[in-house]
Amino acid sequence: MNPNPDTLKPLPFYKSIGREIDVFEHAWRNQLPVLLKGPTGTGKSRLVEYMATKLKRPLISVACHEETSAVDLIGRYLIAGGETVWLDGPMTRAVRQGAILYLDEIAEARPDTMVAIHSLTDHRRALFVDRHNEELQAPPEFMLVASFNPDYQRGSRELKPSTRQRFIALSFQYPSPELEKSIIAGECGFEDKNLDRLVKLAERIRATSDLPLAETVSTRLLVDSARLIQSGLPARLACQSAIAEVLSDDAETLQALNELIALYF
Ligand code: ADP
Repeated sequence: MNPNPDTLKPLPFYKSIGREIDVFEHAWRNQLPVLLKGPTGTGKSRLVEYMATKLKRPLISVACHEETSAVDLIGRYLIAGGETVWLDGPMTRAVRQGAILYLDEIAEARPDTMVAIHSLTDHRRALFVDRHNEELQAPPEFMLVASFNPDYQRGSRELKPSTRQRFIALSFQYPSPELEKSIIAGECGFEDKNLDRLVKLAERIRATSDLPLAETVSTRLLVDSARLIQSGLPARLACQSAIAEVLSDDAETLQALNELIALYF
């Protein structure tokens, strides 16, 4: 971890894959929301963590799912000790604090959440807390960041063009073997021949198009495998547990994955 002299809060390890740090910072300065697109485990959340620390803003993250509604994000009245009290949701808190609000997997959330973010993502930068009869103006430091996995095969929900066009967008892909090796080495704090083998195995699995996988091996799974190997688990077993078993439940596919693993470990 590199210490950030301005905040003394350590900057999380983030290996840049292109110009995303610059684009993110310029978007923040210009009060533009950002959409991070790409498969799971490719560093989207890590970039947001890194940027929040770099820009010295609090980070409020919400993992969106099919039940996430506008009320969950904005807030609600609760009965506590016989009294009715208002509780800000994460979006309202983020606006009040001038935080970075990260809506992970935004497309999974219910359609009313898209309506709720509209006024925050255009020139108004306002949040209407209807139930609490309040209109909040977002301070310049507030930023909305969302992630989206545009993998149609996986059956994930689409984002409407009218929502997409409220963001500037950054693409994340599986990194090149060299870059991926340095991500794993940086994350795990070691480098040895097993890392070369891991990234080659990943390249091979990703290139094997006839494997019926909902999603292929991510950098996250390689980092997990490397950690298990580093702590002394035999490499083949580490990859079987952190890669093959995670990617599939189907006996034939598991066998094919385990055969690929055996080619490298
Ligand atoms: P996502 O949000 O895209 O699903 P994460 O940001 O949670 O993925 O990344 C998953 C893991 O992969 C991280 O915890 C980290 O170990 C590793 N990782 C992936 N890309 C990077 C990167 N560019 N720099 C540092 N770590 C990374």
